[in-house]
Amino acid sequence: MMPSPDAARALNADLHSHSRVSDGVLAPAEVARRAASQGVRLFALTDHDEVAGLSEARAAAFAAGMAFVPGVEISVSWGGETIHVLGLRVDFACEALIAGLARTRAGRDARAREMGEALARAGVPGAYEGALRYAGNPALVSRTHFARFIVAQGRCADVREVFRHYLSEGRPGFVPHRWAALGDALAWIRAAGGTAVLAHPGRYRLGDNALHALIGEFRDGGGEAIEVVCGSHARQQYRRFAEIALEFGLRASRGSDFHGPDEGHVELGRLPPLPAPLVPVWADWPEAAQAVARTAAGGRTLASA
Ligand code: AMP
Ligand code: MN
Ligand code: MN
Ligand code: MN
Repeated sequence: MMPSPDAARALNADLHSHSRVSDGVLAPAEVARRAASQGVRLFALTDHDEVAGLSEARAAAFAAGMAFVPGVEISVSWGGETIHVLGLRVDFACEALIAGLARTRAGRDARAREMGEALARAGVPGAYEGALRYAGNPALVSRTHFARFIVAQGRCADVREVFRHYLSEGRPGFVPHRWAALGDALAWIRAAGGTAVLAHPGRYRLGDNALHALIGEFRDGGGEAIEVVCGSHARQQYRRFAEIALEFGLRASRGSDFHGPDEGHVELGRLPPLPAPLVPVWADWPEAAQAVARTAAGGRTLASA
């Protein structure tokens, strides 16, 4: 039986997290075990542009008695901005998804080499090689790995400062990159039987009109939900994106975007629940219904907001 909307919102679902397969610091199984130990009952691993950690995470989630949602976070270029689209409940053996993600990853190494050259010109030599040492997956070198290297060198106090000084758009280590097209990312997720969720909409530097155009295009292309309660949103953004979800008739998601225990990341399973009357993206998923039933038996739900 499907849970009531109240029961669905009270489920500790965390549907956005990263492992060493992309730019997280823990192994996929460690992220899953940590989620379970933090009280998460419905958990998705969503590495950037890669599904290679999902089998391991799923096995660990099942061993911990936690419902698992196979996911991926796809890098997309839209309107001159990089945006992220989560694919949840994807069949990660789907050829179209695998091939699309491989194409999306393909430019990363060349971009990383260019970043290394740009950083050298800005007085930071050896950053490409340095970043590679931090990358668990050499096919997925990310700005985060550069940031960890630059912090380890003592040039900046933390990862955020590295982004501010070197890696954000307009800073000397930033190299523009063309990611997947929005329509393609949505098509791969659809081919894999998944659900598309627009990640952290509050992070994009888009004016109101452009943001509305993006969300409209996302919904018209088959997108089903937006993240409302997530690690990148401040409290007032929960309210703003709750209104936008209702306005567009979209469901809502909740995800920490956990990358590791340090660097000021939000802990797994700790964000507030989705506010009423939002419909959680997981409201009619059978694995969520099961998790709600098991949670009711064990008595562990989120405190209502
Ligand atoms: P990339 O896909 O290589 O462009 O790297 C993007 C990743 O960098 C994101 O997924 C975040 O994990 C991280 N990131 C982006 N902006 C910031 C920031 N201002 N502070 C810390 N991490 C950031
Ligand atoms: Mn990341
Ligand atoms: Mn993201
Ligand atoms: Mn993420």
